[in-house]
Amino acid sequence: MRPLLVFLTGVLLMLLAACGAAGQAPEPGAASTDASELTVLATTQQIADAVANVAGDNIALTILLGPGIDPHTYVPTESDIQTIQNADIIFYNGLHLEAQMERVFEQLAERADVTVVPVADQLDETSLLSWEPEAGLPYDPHVWNDVRLWTEVVFVISETLSEADPTNAETYQTNAETYVAELDELHQYILNGVEQIPQEQRVLITAHDAFGYFGRAYGLAVEAVQGLSTETEASTADVQALADIVAERVVPAIFIETTISPRTIEAVQEAVRAETGREVAIGGTLYSDAMGEPGSGADTYIGMMRHNVDTIVSALGTAAADTDE
Ligand SMILES: [Zn+2]
Repeated sequence: MRPLLVFLTGVLLMLLAACGAAGQAPEPGAASTDASELTVLATTQQIADAVANVAGDNIALTILLGPGIDPHTYVPTESDIQTIQNADIIFYNGLHLEAQMERVFEQLAERADVTVVPVADQLDETSLLSWEPEAGLPYDPHVWNDVRLWTEVVFVISETLSEADPTNAETYQTNAETYVAELDELHQYILNGVEQIPQEQRVLITAHDAFGYFGRAYGLAVEAVQGLSTETEASTADVQALADIVAERVVPAIFIETTISPRTIEAVQEAVRAETGREVAIGGTLYSDAMGEPGSGADTYIGMMRHNVDTIVSALGTAAADTDE
């Protein structure tokens, strides 16, 4: 690990310890006796949306990472640590998605007064895609991109809330079932969308490798400039390797992501142009690791997934430009 990050994490752990000691005093007993005061923190918008659908108005919900924020590289601020301290329940993705916050959450998990749940870690290992086990990173963290897997996470959230707040357990379970029915429709919507893409053009090319679960669930090959994390920057060799694939497969379009600078994908576009003279289109912007701004229509998990599949189908569903045929 890079020395700076080790240092930052160290500082945060010290802050955490300090806050922990001070944080015991205020409002003694209030949060634990009044279920309506259950304070829940979610790291990503995707997790927060699932929590909101399950919990309704029965909890106070805080989201740590807003639109456009890259969870792989985000380092929590001092005020984030305060917010984290105030939570009764913390839901984070886990599997090294929130790489710079992982130790903070692991440390908090040892405390008795807070429930810390890495949601993707609760999934059956056989359903997870592998990452770099030899580097201590066993599984791909981008599980929300397979709606069926995300359904499992909704049940994890529902069970956790029900245990913490038994008074409202029935509501949480009913809400989870209602939401999961909507997710079933979403799953079918994506399957139907991908059906419209000619078989040979079912190739999804993005800046970083966030769509492995999407590709597996819905039948697209996926390729990316960067790997499963954005912690290291893309190299010229990475760009060229991907340009070679684009050139070879006559892919009609490649995609920008909201959490990553468009320059990476533009560099691939330039490299394809230099190599083949062909203009590969930028097919649009996908929400990979964060959802949309409020009011964008992609500010819910379902809206985000629909935006992504609509963008992909509209860009890949047409014939590749400038082919020899
Ligand atoms: Zn990612």
